[in-house]
Amino acid sequence: MEPYDVLFTGADLVDPGAGLVGRYDLAVRNGRVAAVAPQLDPADATQVVDASGQFLTPGLIDLHTHIYWGATYWGIEADPVAARSGVTTWIDVGSAGAYTFPGFREYIARPGRARVLSFLNLSAIGLVAPTWELANLDYCDVDLATQIVEANRDLIVGIKARIDQNTTRGTGIRPLELARQLADRVALPLMVHIGNGPPSLREIAALLRPGDILTHCFTGGNHRIADDAGRIDPLIIELQRAGLVLDIGHGTGSFAYGVTEAALAAGVLPDVISSDIHQLSVQGPMFDLPTTLSKFLNLGMSLPDVIDRATRRPALALRRPDLGTLAPGSTADLALFRLERGTFVFHDVAMQPRQGDQRLVSTATYMAGTLLPRQAERPLHVWALLPAHQRTGTTAG
Ligand SMILES: [Zn+2]
Repeated sequence: MEPYDVLFTGADLVDPGAGLVGRYDLAVRNGRVAAVAPQLDPADATQVVDASGQFLTPGLIDLHTHIYWGATYWGIEADPVAARSGVTTWIDVGSAGAYTFPGFREYIARPGRARVLSFLNLSAIGLVAPTWELANLDYCDVDLATQIVEANRDLIVGIKARIDQNTTRGTGIRPLELARQLADRVALPLMVHIGNGPPSLREIAALLRPGDILTHCFTGGNHRIADDAGRIDPLIIELQRAGLVLDIGHGTGSFAYGVTEAALAAGVLPDVISSDIHQLSVQGPMFDLPTTLSKFLNLGMSLPDVIDRATRRPALALRRPDLGTLAPGSTADLALFRLERGTFVFHDVAMQPRQGDQRLVSTATYMAGTLLPRQAERPLHVWALLPAHQRTGTTAG
């Protein structure tokens, strides 16, 4: 038998996609998972990684990121963060629109080491500026966006529209109607960002379909899905049951402990836990996807349930069940984590604190069985200023 290239031994495997949780060894050959078993022989491997005391998971899939560095207000660089966070698949949602997608393909997706996929912004200018991209309907060219999708099906896996008072500014619900048309025409999921209307959450919900993604689902803005008594909007519960994907998209404006706790108490769990990492949120209190996952661990969700929402479930939302699992034959994108015990303080976007006793810490990220090297991150842009209330007192736990 040809030797394994890498063998991971002694780890606690958490692979909800393959239905495996527990002590397993995992072997990689030619960039793919070659074997998963309670015990594999180190003599059969060229390199052995002793992962005792660590959790081994599929590389995380972050369903809400902004990685169009240098051409958009929000974009960070994916690879340096991938190497320190375990995120191997980056879904850039809306940074690129039709006019800027060719640059995204050439300068971001092609040279990057981490896997990159995109939700194309309905607005042809994408997220060049912080907001207002849907305030001018001239940018909402459904025919043009359709052509860009058809020419880039390998990278574009969905459509994005940010629907709130600043992005739409005077155009009301019309941009979402156009985004609906576009998503239906190209038969891809539509990710809708909510926050503060107008338009109202009712108007938005009327245009959502099973398989679409509601991001910022636990926002504290006036689109919040919980009322003051903590009762969850029955319409949202009904839509989720019908197949609407509720996605966290933490960011700097969209994760409220009050709404989250009300939802979890009502049994309304997020389908996907994503970071909305960008120039601002990377400074805290979001920081990165492992920190965001840790917040849910400390709210009482189990480690497999949390990892499920950053591996198997986002893969399903993307209609890419080949991703987010380490079943034999899969690409060996994987991550190692330590679960630290101690006393940690986490904050939501309003800087409401919650104390926790566990924290997920990334120790290594592998793409197709090869370790991603840690590397320096570029300085943040001069405009990358956190909201005033978040500027002080944010530490990573
Ligand atoms: Zn975002």
